Amino acid sequence: MGGFAARRCRYDALMTATLYPHLLQPLDLGFTTLKNRVLMGSMHTGLEDGRKHFPRMAAFFAERARGGVGLMVTGGFAPNIEGWAKPFAGTLSTSGAAGRHRQVTEAVHAEGGKIALQILHTGRYGYQPFCVAPSRIQSPISPFTPRALSARGIERQIRAFVRCAALAREAGYDGVEVMGSEGYFINQFLVAHTNHRDDEWGGSYPNRMRLAVEIVRRVREAVGPDFILIYRISLIDLIPDGSSWPEVLELARAVSAAGATILNTGIGWHEARVPTIATSVPRGAFTWVTKKLRDALRAEGIATPVVTSNRLNMPEVAEAVLARGDADMVSLARPFLADAEFVNKAAQGRSDEINTCIACNQACLDHTFRNRMSSCLVNPRACHETELVIAPAGTRKRIAVVGAGPAGLAAATTMAERGHEVHLFDAAAQIGGQFNLARRVPGKEEFEETLRYYARRLQVTGVRMRLQTQVDAELLRSHAFDEVVLATGVTPRDPRIPGQDHSKVLSYIDVLLGRRPVGRRVAIVGAGGIGFDVAEFLANGTDLGHASTTMDLAAWLREWGVTDPQAQRGGVVRPQPEPPVREVTLLQRKPGKHGGTLGKTTGWIHRAALKMKQVQMLAGVNYERIGAVDGSGGAAHADDPVGLFISYGKDHRDGTVLTVDTIVLCAGQEPLRELQAPLRAAGIEVHLIGGAFEAGELDAKRAIDQGTRLGARL
Ligand code: FAD
Ligand code: NAP
Ligand code: SF4
Repeated sequence: MGGFAARRCRYDALMTATLYPHLLQPLDLGFTTLKNRVLMGSMHTGLEDGRKHFPRMAAFFAERARGGVGLMVTGGFAPNIEGWAKPFAGTLSTSGAAGRHRQVTEAVHAEGGKIALQILHTGRYGYQPFCVAPSRIQSPISPFTPRALSARGIERQIRAFVRCAALAREAGYDGVEVMGSEGYFINQFLVAHTNHRDDEWGGSYPNRMRLAVEIVRRVREAVGPDFILIYRISLIDLIPDGSSWPEVLELARAVSAAGATILNTGIGWHEARVPTIATSVPRGAFTWVTKKLRDALRAEGIATPVVTSNRLNMPEVAEAVLARGDADMVSLARPFLADAEFVNKAAQGRSDEINTCIACNQACLDHTFRNRMSSCLVNPRACHETELVIAPAGTRKRIAVVGAGPAGLAAATTMAERGHEVHLFDAAAQIGGQFNLARRVPGKEEFEETLRYYARRLQVTGVRMRLQTQVDAELLRSHAFDEVVLATGVTPRDPRIPGQDHSKVLSYIDVLLGRRPVGRRVAIVGAGGIGFDVAEFLANGTDLGHASTTMDLAAWLREWGVTDPQAQRGGVVRPQPEPPVREVTLLQRKPGKHGGTLGKTTGWIHRAALKMKQVQMLAGVNYERIGAVDGSGGAAHADDPVGLFISYGKDHRDGTVLTVDTIVLCAGQEPLRELQAPLRAAGIEVHLIGGAFEAGELDAKRAIDQGTRLGARL
């Protein structure tokens, strides 16, 4: 190596060591060494659930191995039919199945990575008729009542775990993770809430933890000493009668002694009513619990590495957690859907180029719960690596993209990455479109990261940016572009309520941008995603400078009733939210529950958050008119309230008036594509994406997906 190259190499190594010294430090496990402290946590993506997906799964993990992660864990594979998460879920119970996994392990090893297989037995969480559990107690999240296992049945389950681990070794995996948390099968034995047995597998804690310890002991026996065995332990169950802290410690000691190489940690059962990974959860909200465990084990001389998880999405956060000694390793899962190159970018000092997971769940967990293949809202290539390929363009074209919202940003950067000359226009002074509104909502601060990512990506790919430029057909015609992409987004729908031109009727845009003052009593017309967000914004007093609990861990823990598991079994107490700043009423015309269109895994959180803020929900209403409460027409005085006159049902019965200080319109959106007709008339064909293409069912997931796919094609 020449003098300059050698100096450069030393400089790079020094930079890396200085930037994230804890994160990028190798971890010596005795028989093998992990190249850094980053574990890609297990995610059920859907790739596990069909033989035909194995080549995709191999490409998915190979890309992440290439991205530099220290160790990856696959999505859960059941050790037998009883352990299925759903009918025909991915299972590893035969040599034939192990053979298919070889393409995954070989692809990962070819990229210099390491991978462990997660053994997941769902017990009473199984969404299938063969599910089994310690006792016959149905879970609130499955319609199937489990069969209570006999002692022989338990022995069969243990043997299935052991066989699965041995097959994982045969398939070339570097290890296995035994899933013992999140309320799954093993966890169900641990707590009296789900274990009513009075034999040697129930009753006292040594009996209840016998299953976990037996599985670890016998798996270790079967796989030998030089195979990674991760045990995922539930540190804080977040259910009323979950494990006590002394029980958690006893289990950690026992599984370490039985042969666990690493203790990965789990936070909360799936049936818990506390959000644990949603975007409104503060970053690193639960690492203090991991620290409790790690400190206790170290005090006893137990050196098993402890992994922390949940809402760690940037290298700075992970580095701080490790530097504080909260854990020996960090587990990030969804951040690797968002960006396969997370670790390499951090190591190369390019963390501003990381496509950050915003914890929205919209394309990952929400898909899983709807039986769809997972992907990622900010990275539609996730789990689609073999099909959505960003290849260099054959011919370099001059392309105009109008609109720098999520759709336009995705299209422009993808096309520029492929080598096109891309000109991106926006009328606004900053990029981001509606994300500039979304990021102001309490609990959606992460959306800011997507704007940071795209701002940097525009520079890196060389997109020519023209802000504060209202584009018309003439501008586009005069530049004679080869292709024109319209990503002009949406405009608020006009609900045409008689009297809505009243001075106290505001649009959600005015409210979120703080352009107009909002009174103490508020009625919100429309309970879609934006109506919910505006309700949270106003009830929390965000416009008045009240901080979001997402930015204040202690306040967030109080709000959701999370406490030290040493003080209270399971770590949950009565929630103590701050009182609302305003009286908010959220209205919709359709009958039934509010928030039906919200995400499957986050809708309940939004509903619970509004309930805590005492937001009143009215459904099945007709908006008759808006006017002075006394029926006189306009507002006589600036301080006078305004009336929203409503009735109910098709027959407009029970007419009443809501007396409020402000009415906010959140009645949906219409596509904004007024440029299409004049361009067509000038002989210019356009490509429509995002809201400009279709406003119904629009969200950023569709906008970015459409932009990326068009960008990959043009
Ligand atoms: P837009 O984001 O609307 O961008 C269009 C851009 O085009 C704008 O910047 C505009 O200035 C520009 N433009 C328009 N006409 C012209 C012209 N003639 N010349 C130049 N520039 C022009 N989605 C989710 O998936 N999850 C969420 O949690 C979520 N929360 C939201 C919360 C709020 C409060 C709001 C308002 C939206 C939220 N959304 C959310 C919706 C999401 O932001 C939109 O679906 C997405 O922004 C649509 O992207 P787009 O690129 O099609 O359009
Ligand atoms: P939306 O979800 O379609 O909701 C529009 C609301 O307005 C509905 O409650 C609808 O209910 C009401 N409405 C429709 N037409 C009306 C009319 N003529 N008069 C009065 N009310 C009317 O749209 P949005 O809230 O504007 O959100 C836009 C998009 O952003 C959504 O598609 C959503 O996916 C996305 N978004 C997502 C999130 C998220 O958390 N995932 C958050 C914010 C926004 P009724 O017809 O019953 O009255
Ligand atoms: Fe993260 Fe949302 Fe992507 Fe899921 S869909 S990985 S939560 S950004």
